[in-house]
This record gives sequence, structure tokens and C-alpha cells, in this order.
Amino acid sequence: MIKKMLIANRGEIALRILRACKEMDIKTVAVHSKIDSHLKHVRLADEAICIGPNPSSESYLNIPSIISAMEITDSVAVHPGYGFLAENANFAEQVQKSGFTFIGPDADVIRLMGDKVCAIEAMKKAGVPTVPGSDGPLPEDPQYCLDMAKKIGFPVIIKAASGGGGRGMRVVDNEAALLSSIHVTKAEAGAAFGDDTVYLEKFLQNPRHVEIQVMSDGQGSAIHLGDRDCSLQRRHQKVIEEAPAPQIPEEARQKVYNACTNACIEIGYRGAGTFEFLYEDGGFYFIEMNTRIQVEHPVSEMVTGVDLIKEQIRVCTGEKLSFKQEDITIKGHSFECRINAEDPKTFMPCPGTVTTYHPPGGLGVRVDSHLYSGYSVPPNYDSMIAKVITYGETRQIALRRMRNALDEMVIEGIRTNIPLQQQLVRDAAFMEGGVNIHYLEEKLGL
Ligand code: ADP
Repeated sequence: MIKKMLIANRGEIALRILRACKEMDIKTVAVHSKIDSHLKHVRLADEAICIGPNPSSESYLNIPSIISAMEITDSVAVHPGYGFLAENANFAEQVQKSGFTFIGPDADVIRLMGDKVCAIEAMKKAGVPTVPGSDGPLPEDPQYCLDMAKKIGFPVIIKAASGGGGRGMRVVDNEAALLSSIHVTKAEAGAAFGDDTVYLEKFLQNPRHVEIQVMSDGQGSAIHLGDRDCSLQRRHQKVIEEAPAPQIPEEARQKVYNACTNACIEIGYRGAGTFEFLYEDGGFYFIEMNTRIQVEHPVSEMVTGVDLIKEQIRVCTGEKLSFKQEDITIKGHSFECRINAEDPKTFMPCPGTVTTYHPPGGLGVRVDSHLYSGYSVPPNYDSMIAKVITYGETRQIALRRMRNALDEMVIEGIRTNIPLQQQLVRDAAFMEGGVNIHYLEEKLGL
């Protein structure tokens, strides 16, 4: 097992990784920007280094600074968490070239999954169900594009191969608008991503977002850890997640699990990963693979009992998977509510000093957060400050616990979205389960 890990992230996920390392007897190095010297994990780490000024471009995204910090501290591995450099193939490559271990898959695999056209192609080859579409980049030929879109059926969506974060997509309702939309999306993609490759897919009207958690050792073994429903989203940002996804027929579920684990083996995947699908009328349609640990990983931990970060570290440092598929059973139900430092009505970020903090507790309640009374939420980064996670033997028990937990939670000094979350966990359709990806925005009147 490795001796020292550098944690190239901040906030709750840095703390989560630190805790896993401590359990594994791995020494930890925290790196932070100037304003982040008071982060909880920075105080708890064995060593801490300031890697630059507050803007993430000069600190958490500063590859030379992070590699230098690894050299200075004799770290042997780096955990990128999520966001920042977690899916940056160049970073993974430089880490490996410098003789260190990247906690994630090989740079080539990150690159493959970062190009959506290539990713879809690889998935199709591995038997993962995809959205009916152009099967590759759209060619220049206008007649070909028109024929293709008509065959697939309107509405269709044009997507940039290098797009991400919900950018570089355009829905087209009819034939008349197709060619101009392709043109505009291509121009935008070229300007935004330096790559004007676009492709076309059927636009699904009322899908749910259902994703599969996998873990693979890159040595021929891959397992799945069930699914999650993350349909409650605002501007493509997930707000509440749950595991397992409600109301999915067992047969469809098992089929897609098998396809995902096969795909992991086929592409030589190593580490924790997530296959994201749109789910509509009983069918799964692959949209992308995330080659990192995700924000919502705790709900899968709650229903499987597997520590995903520890297992991720193990397989990425050369060990074989410590579980077989038959060792994994999905038991009970779990929810996660993301708590953001933002106005619950306008969604404007609301940084500032937390004067009072009382996290909720009790049986089946978990809070992943770096908050403490007196902590100042800086304006420079993502506004998520805590994740409240509950577990119950049934969906209803887990949901009741979430209601209690949110009602108990006190964060004073800044505004948070707790009031919105309290409202959502009492929403009739959400309580029923299975709302689609448009539900939250429609409810909010957006
Ligand atoms: P990104 O990498 O930018 O997140 P995705 O391919 O994951 O892009 O798509 C982001 C979101 O766009 C999806 O979660 C879904 O809401 C919507 N979307 C993407 N493709 C389709 C589709 N074929 N039909 C309907 N909605 C889609």
C-alpha cells in the first residue's frame, strides 16, 4: 500500500478523501489556495502546502504547482476528487510521467471518454445501449444530415463532441431549422472547445437521469454497485440524488449493469466510474461516462456498505478488486440533499461567515461537510457546502429521516438552499418517485 497521498481538491471531498486515507494508514498532504488555509482538511492533514492565489486557475488547476508539491512532500499518489483536474487527461498523463500514481483511470481512457463521439462508439461496441443518432460526427453534406434527422425523427439534439457541463447542445424541432442549427452549434463549439465536431441524437422528451456506479481494477475484473436516480436538477446541476433509482424493472436493470461492467473490461477501465443514462419508457440510453468519483457517491455507499473511496484508492494503486459481484447486495434506500451557500429563491451564491452550525444526526443520518462555526465560505469556488445523506430500510423511512435531518440542520450567518430542500422532500410527486429531469425546473416555474 502507498505511503503518502496528495489531495488535489478542497471542501467536503478533500475531507472525505483524507478520512479514507487515515483509515488506510496513508499519510496525507493537503494543497490549498491562499484563502483556503482554514479548510478543515488542511488542519487535519499531516502536511499542508499553499499552491497559489485564490483563482482556481492559479491554484487547484495549476498542474506544475501540484506536481511540485508532490515532489517536495515525497507524495507517491494524487487523488483529484471531482471537478478541477479530475477528468483532465493531461494532468493524469503528467502525474504518471513524473512517476506518481493518479487515482483514476489511464490518461488515454479519460481522453476517450472526454470525446463524446468516441465514447458513444466505444460503448456501442461494448453493448451499452445508446441514444439513436448519427453514429459519429455529422458530415458537411446537408442532404445527408436532413435524411438522417428525418430517419431518427424530430425533435433531435445537436451536440458538440467536446462539449461538457451542459454546454454545446441545441434542440431542433423540425426540418426547417436543422441546417442553420447545425451551423450555429458547430461555430459555437469551435469557439468554446477548439473543436467543431458535432453529432446528432434523438431528443428524448421526458427522460429520467439514472446512472450506474462501477468499480474496476484494470486487471480483468469489474463490478457495479447499483444505480442512482439524479433527475432532480436545475440547470443540469443535481439537487437531490437517491439510490436505488425507484420503479425500474429488474430485468432492464440487470441488463444495463452487465453492459456497463463489460464495457469497463473492454476499455481497460481502472477505478471508480459512472455510466450516465437517460431512462425513458423502460429503456436506458447512454449519454456519458464520468471517469471519477462523483458528488453523489455516498448514496451508493449507504445501500452497498462499500467505502468507494477506499476501494478506488486500492484498485488505482495496483491492487485487485476486494469484492466480487456476488458480494454486493443492494439493501435499503438512501437520499442525498446538496446544501449550497445560495439564496433559496434566486439561487444567487451567498458566501460569508458561518456564525452557527448545528449538523443533524441520529440513526441513518450522515453529513459530509467541511463546515464549522466561524468558517468563512469563500466566493471563489463552487457553492456546495454540505451533503446531507440519509439511509432507511425503505424509501419512505429514508425520506422521513431526510425531512427530520433538514429540519434539524442550522446554518446561520449565510443563506442556504435548506428551505428549498425542505420543500422538495415534501413534494407529492417526488415522494411518489420517478419524476423526470424537467420536473424541478417546471415546479420552480423556470
Ligand atoms: P454534458 O457533458 O454537457 O453534461 P450530457 O451529454 O451529459 O452533456 O447532457 C447533459 C444533459 O442534457 C442531460 O443530462 C440531459 O438533461 C440533456 N440531454 C442530453 N442529451 C439528450 C437527449 N438525447 N435527449 C434529451 N435530453 C438530453
